[in-house]
Amino acid sequence: MANARVVIIGAGFGGLEAAKTLKRAAADVIVIDRHNHHCFQPLLYQVATAALSPADIAWPIRHILRPQRNATVLMEEVHGINLQKKCLHTQYGDVHYDYLVIATGASHSYFGHDEWSEYAPGLKRIEDATRIRRSILIAFERAEVMQNQDQHRRLLTFVIVGGGATGVEMAGAIADVARQTLAADFRRIDPRSARIILVEAGPRLLPTFPSSLSSYALRTLTRSGVEVQTGTLVTKCDANGVDLKDGRIDAGTVIWAAGVTASPAVRWLNAEADRAGRVKVGSDLSLPGYPEIFVIGDTAAVADSEGQPVPGIAPAAKQMGKYVGKLIAARVAGREWQKPFQYMHLGELATIGRRAAVVKFGALELRGFVGWLFWSLAHIYFLIGLRNRFVVAFNWFWDYLTFQRGARLITDVSDGKGSG
Ligand SMILES: Cc1cc2nc3c(=O)[nH]c(=O)nc-3n(C[C@H](O)[C@H](O)[C@H](O)COP(=O)(O)OP(=O)(O)OC[C@H]3O[C@@H](n4cnc5c(N)ncnc54)[C@H](O)[C@@H]3O)c2cc1C
Repeated sequence: MANARVVIIGAGFGGLEAAKTLKRAAADVIVIDRHNHHCFQPLLYQVATAALSPADIAWPIRHILRPQRNATVLMEEVHGINLQKKCLHTQYGDVHYDYLVIATGASHSYFGHDEWSEYAPGLKRIEDATRIRRSILIAFERAEVMQNQDQHRRLLTFVIVGGGATGVEMAGAIADVARQTLAADFRRIDPRSARIILVEAGPRLLPTFPSSLSSYALRTLTRSGVEVQTGTLVTKCDANGVDLKDGRIDAGTVIWAAGVTASPAVRWLNAEADRAGRVKVGSDLSLPGYPEIFVIGDTAAVADSEGQPVPGIAPAAKQMGKYVGKLIAARVAGREWQKPFQYMHLGELATIGRRAAVVKFGALELRGFVGWLFWSLAHIYFLIGLRNRFVVAFNWFWDYLTFQRGARLITDVSDGKGSG
């Protein structure tokens, strides 16, 4: 009998874990992704702020799955699914499946204002990170050559919208770039005069962390020169800055870290979704009525044992990928599988600049330098490949000693904002 054909869409944290778990299954595993690389999103902000290069945090999917004989990697984009014919549509044709795992992640949500994306890029892919890096570095270069004070002020104003982990990390890192890395590199401008403004609609930063750690993050950011505005709603983003509910900030660079929405899988499946557009799945992560289709990671809406939504973070996606991989392996081997998915929350981490972090890991709460050490070791551990672990660890150590960031190249000036 022919092997079962398991098609996995998306080689992010969830999809890769599912594929690897099926290593010994009697199945042909087809992994489809529109990119040729797996991206370690938690470190994207370091690429966006020139601390790391793209290749340090991304790996070719084909290379990761090279040792797995039953896995085939196809680089193509999925546009839709025919549930009756059990096939999905890509730009190169249809792909049939016996089992389907949808792990297509999430993208930015501009709360119904997609036109803002042009002026306030979010951080999700390598391309986003290099675009933001260009924008930040070009702002300083343009300010150095501009004569007009108003233009100076606008170019050297950076607004980050959203005070979750990504917003806090971006704000802290841009402050480091302005106050330390670039401080002595310019002659006409003083990079230390840059304004970095973190705008959060809710009452506090890092809303998913304990309030003591949120307060610590606020104090640390403020000390490093970041202006934090909580309880402040952005009502519009345009080419010259942002409108707030009460006022306006002219800025050369605006970065969006405020919201996410799931991939369009819900449309492909014509399924029920939660408010973030995530597909509501059963307790075994399958699509109701379709036991051969599973939705995992940031695309899935599922509750933990206490009825709380499983968060959109990497460990959750990996746990779902592993679960679905085991379930499918059992089914293709003719074994019964009754166990529901159970999420285990391990904790949360966020850095605040180059020497501080907050960590909530079970009962353990860390902050400051100890938190940063914990954060660094955890991220190095989860990186793929010895080379990347070594390169990233060395870069951080070097940055720690010298304040320097090695990836400060502007490779495409045409695309940078801030030319005004
Ligand atoms: C800036 C940032 C920082 C983060 N920091 C942390 C952190 O510190 N800790 C943490 O735990 N989590 C963090 N997260 C969240 C974490 O990265 C996600 O929860 C996790 O990546 C979700 O995994 P996933 O497999 O569902 O999707 P993803 O990892 O996003 O993978 C989705 C994959 O699907 C592919 N894809 C999408 N659509 C298609 C299509 N139509 N056709 C083909 N392929 C497609 C994409 O190319 C991608 O490879 C962060 C996320 C971001 C954006």
